[in-house]
Amino acid sequence: MSNKVKRFILPEEEIPHYWYNIQAEMPNKPLPPIHPATKQPLKPEDLFPIFGEELCRQELNQTDAWIEIPEEVREMYKYYRSTPLVRAYGLEKALDTPAHIYFKNESVSPMGSHKLNSAIPQAYYCKKEGVTNVTTETGAGQWGAALAYAARLFGLEAAVYQVKISYEQKPYRRSIMQTYGAQVTASPSMSTRAGKNILTRDPFHQGSLGTAISEAIELATTTPNCKYTLGSVLNHVSLHQTIIGLEAEKQMKMAGEYPDMVIACFGGGSNFSGIAFPFMRHNIQDGKKTRFIAAEPDSCPKLTRGKFEYDFGDEAGYTPLLPMYTLGHNFRPANIHAGGLRYHGAGVIISQLLKDGFMEAMDVPQLETFDAGTLFARVEGIIPAPESCHAIAATIREALKCKETGEEKVILFNLSGHGLIDMAAYDQYIAGNLQNYRVSDEELANSVKDADALNA
Ligand SMILES: *Cc1c(COP(=O)(O)O)cnc(C)c1O
Repeated sequence: MSNKVKRFILPEEEIPHYWYNIQAEMPNKPLPPIHPATKQPLKPEDLFPIFGEELCRQELNQTDAWIEIPEEVREMYKYYRSTPLVRAYGLEKALDTPAHIYFKNESVSPMGSHKLNSAIPQAYYCKKEGVTNVTTETGAGQWGAALAYAARLFGLEAAVYQVKISYEQKPYRRSIMQTYGAQVTASPSMSTRAGKNILTRDPFHQGSLGTAISEAIELATTTPNCKYTLGSVLNHVSLHQTIIGLEAEKQMKMAGEYPDMVIACFGGGSNFSGIAFPFMRHNIQDGKKTRFIAAEPDSCPKLTRGKFEYDFGDEAGYTPLLPMYTLGHNFRPANIHAGGLRYHGAGVIISQLLKDGFMEAMDVPQLETFDAGTLFARVEGIIPAPESCHAIAATIREALKCKETGEEKVILFNLSGHGLIDMAAYDQYIAGNLQNYRVSDEELANSVKDADALNA
């Protein structure tokens, strides 16, 4: 009998009791968010009108490295955690690589992605503070679905603005949100001032995350007891997602290995932060030399080709100014199928870490991501989300390098979600109808001008 272990699962009592807050241990802290008019750094209280109060405190907490996971949240995590750490023997064999490839399978959550890890605590803290309604934006629908369910768990009403192109391309995500009882609106919509302004300028606007964020923030700030929530980009979201890497750390120990590389796809940075930060801690503290690689689409390349400067998080300019790698808040990404990666900026922690050389980034063309995802499906059985295909493509690049050099490196990547509701994308790939959309230098130089003006 073979003693090769395929999946590593933690017993319930081993599910972490604390999230890891890397802000407390970064050599250079992220620059503060600033008020666009006064240019003053923001305090947690300044964010209270938009987000739940505890979430605002977590957002700007640069002192506590460990933050306790409330018991009620841990109870809900137990419905699907721990998620398996899986040794990708099938992929190793298909690539004929000496590398040891592991993936953390976040697709086993009820929503099929990692998003629920933050939706649950966000809904929990809002409820505890007397909030009755939550609102948000969603691209592919993963975050909206997670929030819709988490809101239901804690008895909150949820209103979701879904990017119009996704609303049309991914009708099942809309039905999922509605099944959990959320109200779903295609964005840009005529129901907000921000939406109306955008539609007046461009009646055929396909929507973007930036636009949908503007609409949701407007609803939150004009409705009593209603808070806005965000599924990516922000520090408190990354904090909640560290449950992924903290579990993975224990599971890698069970496997008797430690990663030489940690890889994840990158939209706003939450699943990347989640798997990477607990391991990056050992680079910062114990001199480990693990490489951290964020895989982004070459059609939305803020990490590899963006500019580090203050910019708005949304298209209408409702958010504070955030110090980040950005393509400009008016950047319009191509309609790639990885909807969750079509965002113009990176979170402020990630931006600082990238600037300081603690991590790297790689941009991948759309077709390569589907080649990778299809191979993965055939040898590991799971059809990955188009977003996750970016992590797989980057993993394959690195595993093939190991094949050339003969190095037995240990690669850990995060499978952020499954693609079972994204089959329209696979259909187009199979029919040969997908293309690459590498963005030109000229377009990037133009789109970043608005951000440049804010820094003048
Ligand atoms: C939302 C999403 C992403 C991108 O968001 P991050 O905050 O960068 O993690 C990636 N994969 C899946 C499956 C998603 O739903």
